[in-house]
Amino acid sequence: MRLRNVKGSREVIAASRYVIKNETEKKGRWKEVFGNGNRIHIEIGMGKGAFLTTMAQANPYTNYIGIEKYSSVLIRAIEKQEELELPNLYFIRMEAEYIDEVFAPGEVGRIYLNFSDPWPKDRHAKRRLTSKEFLNRYTKILTEDGLVIFKTDNRELFDFSLEQIPEAGWELVDYTYDLHNSAYVKGNIMTEYEAKFVGEGKPICRLTAKQNR
Ligand code: SAH
Repeated sequence: MRLRNVKGSREVIAASRYVIKNETEKKGRWKEVFGNGNRIHIEIGMGKGAFLTTMAQANPYTNYIGIEKYSSVLIRAIEKQEELELPNLYFIRMEAEYIDEVFAPGEVGRIYLNFSDPWPKDRHAKRRLTSKEFLNRYTKILTEDGLVIFKTDNRELFDFSLEQIPEAGWELVDYTYDLHNSAYVKGNIMTEYEAKFVGEGKPICRLTAKQNR
């Protein structure tokens, strides 16, 4: 009997050409990674990657990069991409805190934040991906007309985010407390978490924000 080589998630990540390893060396050079100058949209905290994979299939002239800190979920996105081999989709396993060391000013056109960790304790507020600390980091990598698009089921985190936007000198473009019963639902691509929460009848909040320039 032949023993199947069951790889651990770290080995799969190390072996995949869709995972960029020396990400800080790519700062200002992402065009070379994709082999074209198309706009780059990223998702921070992409989990198993269903949203970004669907986006990359639907929009072949947009380049996508999925960022996720945990190997155990990232591996699911990699497995799917190894089957699909989409030329406009790459992943990075990293903690988003040093995002401005990975992308140069103006290199990113859009940042998607889907069902980000709530960090409910006040003393952890700086870790929330929509905190003013993170918005300041996003300012360093976004194009002038760049957008942050944030979806969550967590009303407390959403209200906190609505407050942080003007505090960081950003501007709200639009928002809804109930995406699936609003006009904004047209063209919405569901994430894994979103499908679960919508199935449970929970309303989904969404906001779009841009820098105030
Ligand atoms: N976006 C997916 C997963 C949501 S769960 C969906 O909507 O279905 C949130 C994910 O973000 C988790 O996988 C978590 O590991 C990741 N994450 C949270 N904070 C992060 C950070 N600072 N850097 C990188 N990934 C992060």
